[in-house]
Amino acid sequence: MDIVIVGLFLAFFTIEVLVEFVLNELNIRHVQKNSTVRKVPDFFQGKISDAEYDQSVRYTLTKARFQRWSGIYSRIIVLLVLFGGTLPFLDQLAATSLQQQGFAQVHGVVFCIAVAIVFSLATLPVDLYSTFGIETQFGFNKTTLGLYFSDKLKGFILGLLIGAPFLFVVLWLMEATGQYWWLWAFAFITVFQLLMIVILPSFIAPWFNKFEPLGEGDLGDRILALAKQIGFETSGIFSMDGSKRSAHSNAYFTGIGKAKRIVLFDTLIEQMTIDQGLAVLAHEMGHYKMQHIRRMLVMQMLFIFIGLYILSLLLNYEPLFAAVGLQPSNHAGLVLFSLLSGPFTFYLGPLMNLLSRTHEYEADHFAAITLRSGKPMEEALINLTLKNLSNLTPHPWYSGYHYSHPTPAERIGAIRKLMV
Ligand SMILES: [Zn+2]
Repeated sequence: MDIVIVGLFLAFFTIEVLVEFVLNELNIRHVQKNSTVRKVPDFFQGKISDAEYDQSVRYTLTKARFQRWSGIYSRIIVLLVLFGGTLPFLDQLAATSLQQQGFAQVHGVVFCIAVAIVFSLATLPVDLYSTFGIETQFGFNKTTLGLYFSDKLKGFILGLLIGAPFLFVVLWLMEATGQYWWLWAFAFITVFQLLMIVILPSFIAPWFNKFEPLGEGDLGDRILALAKQIGFETSGIFSMDGSKRSAHSNAYFTGIGKAKRIVLFDTLIEQMTIDQGLAVLAHEMGHYKMQHIRRMLVMQMLFIFIGLYILSLLLNYEPLFAAVGLQPSNHAGLVLFSLLSGPFTFYLGPLMNLLSRTHEYEADHFAAITLRSGKPMEEALINLTLKNLSNLTPHPWYSGYHYSHPTPAERIGAIRKLMV
């Protein structure tokens, strides 16, 4: 029976690896082909210099060629952890180091943390090379090694402070609430998720970045007017010192209820005109108006609900544990499920991206209508694309699969269509 489980997993695993590898190769070829004939999308004609275009092609190809190997590397790590005896070893280690004291759940939490540490250590070289190799080479990286490792340490402390109690409660519910534990766990995770959305922007993010209310200076009056027009509280608009880590620029909307906020990176504010900056703000307010966070949350909760139900069925299925040499237990089931389900659920990624892209179109439309012109949004998009050296010509299958935002050309096309 073990052999069936392992075989099924490996078959789906191979499909996933192949799909992602082929998409990356298609994208590389597509970018190369376009760059030899110097074919940039119409909207970018005359807006981008030869040097800028060449640099964006080099940046895209450098990242894609690295992805070729880092993708395979990370897959080998998963296989090694699953079938190389790592899991039984860590489970044993957690058991002996605790010597039967206190709750069984503590053993489970220690095991989960140990698995997480193994994966973080294994991906560290890839992450270090992306940041200090590629990002430095193209002038984006502003992080020092000191800041980099202090970020990692903070992340680890947060994992312990928030992740460990969270896991403890989930494991305890699995133990204590009987057959319908998964409904209890779902209720708990939902409450936890909502709590995190509220505390993340105002209590956790400030540990990593400085946030300053935006609304003074030249921009101030116009932001105030825009926020009033839309009905967004100005106390929720911030600039963030993204420049201390990277020259990449961005903006986002997060939170629900009173905890909602719009964050513009200082790098973005610096490189944009006031009109473009306002267009970005209007776009983010569009996400708020259309309740996009809520919609994404509902989707996520639906996946978690189904996932927990499937886990509840698998927990009683011993061959699953035997296949990787683990003793059946709730914590082993939890970790196994998260590792094994990847190749079966990777189809959900593109689906979520599709939903996210429809949200981006809606927010763009909202910005264009609010400002009574699509021009500032278009210019902001072109500006963002150039400054971030984004890929001007991704392969349509690649962007369809991986992109959470439509390509700039698609977005500008949609804005023009709307505003005619
Ligand atoms: Zn957006």
